[in-house]
Amino acid sequence: MKLFVYFSILISFISCAVNPTIGLTMPNQQSGNTTTPSNTSNSNQGGQLTTIDNFKITNDLNPITLNVNVFVLKRDNKNQTNFDLKNAEEKQLLTEYFDKINTYWNNFKKPQDFSGCYTGTDFYSDSKIRFKFNFIELVDAYAWDYMNSGADLAAKKYNGLSPSENWYLSNLDKKLSADSSIPKGVFLYLTMEGKNFDELNKTKGKGFHLIGTEASQFPSTTNLERTSSVHVPNRYLKYLWHRYQAPIEHKTNWNDTRNWHLGDAVGTAHELGHTLGLSHSNEYHGVNKCQYSIMSQAAGHARNYLQPTEILKAHKNLRESNLIQFVTDDSFLGNTFSINKNETWSKKQRFYSNLKLEDQVILTITEPIILPPQAKVTFGKNAKIIFTKNGKLTQPNGAEFSNFVNKSSNSITKN
Ligand SMILES: [Zn+2]
Repeated sequence: MKLFVYFSILISFISCAVNPTIGLTMPNQQSGNTTTPSNTSNSNQGGQLTTIDNFKITNDLNPITLNVNVFVLKRDNKNQTNFDLKNAEEKQLLTEYFDKINTYWNNFKKPQDFSGCYTGTDFYSDSKIRFKFNFIELVDAYAWDYMNSGADLAAKKYNGLSPSENWYLSNLDKKLSADSSIPKGVFLYLTMEGKNFDELNKTKGKGFHLIGTEASQFPSTTNLERTSSVHVPNRYLKYLWHRYQAPIEHKTNWNDTRNWHLGDAVGTAHELGHTLGLSHSNEYHGVNKCQYSIMSQAAGHARNYLQPTEILKAHKNLRESNLIQFVTDDSFLGNTFSINKNETWSKKQRFYSNLKLEDQVILTITEPIILPPQAKVTFGKNAKIIFTKNGKLTQPNGAEFSNFVNKSSNSITKN
């Protein structure tokens, strides 16, 4: 029982502050909740054909991979002020912590009862979204100490702590995104409360009392070049406490307390939900009212489930928001989107699917559309693509896309 109490306390530390006004357009709040086909998770429809609005997750899809750069910020080169990637134990712990986030997103649990969470009966255990974490050590005394943001977690002052276009690391966001040696990806910063660091470091976490409030930035559908950042403070100090103090205070050993540390990963998995555009509430429930949702902040909630509609919102943001910059070039779901009526696509978008224009359909494209190198675009009888303005089809690396099926000499027109 002691362990249970401990976990409750632990989870109550992990709340998060997000700024819902920054660059957020919640996609498709109204659609996608009227039809609730049953049990799609068990079907295996090879190369399924759906419309974009009717997209469903099936077991045969390949996951989309989102790059996340984890910046291990350091105060200086002389002292150890954060995880040391050259220390095998610390590197392994950090790797497992972040790997655990993928086990949440690819292994959701079906609730016993959807009451208060969802009105449908369908369930996806796998979001088909993966995170690839790249660890990068960075010496930057200002960035390392999040108290430079003006925030003080102990005093519940969260100003400047939440990543936004004007938070305390916005200049670093810009600098790193312009640095070609750093892979394109979401930026996740491991920072520290500078004021208490030296004392807690010296005593190896004794008396650790810092709050682990994490924060994340919603995607933008209006500025597709924008960065997306996640802020994870004090994780190293929490590690010192778990490693050296928790075994004594709780009369157990590092084997156990190491798992407690890894248990905190659910909080960071929740933050990446915000990165993908998900909120603490949705059309099915109010803030923190679904006890199973990973997007709940409430202490003691199971936090190992997402509604299919929320997973599809994340996929929509991976197609239509600034997140398109951060997905690996070879990400390809393998399904096919059917375009079955005349349409004009006037926004830049990225797909991870094949496209099929049904017979007679005219698709007008006015801004670049990015397709995976493996994808095919199939023309039905008399189907046409008309490019106007900036319209074109490209691969993620910028090369022209030309993988067409049943294309005739008048299938593509440029105006
Ligand atoms: Zn949150």
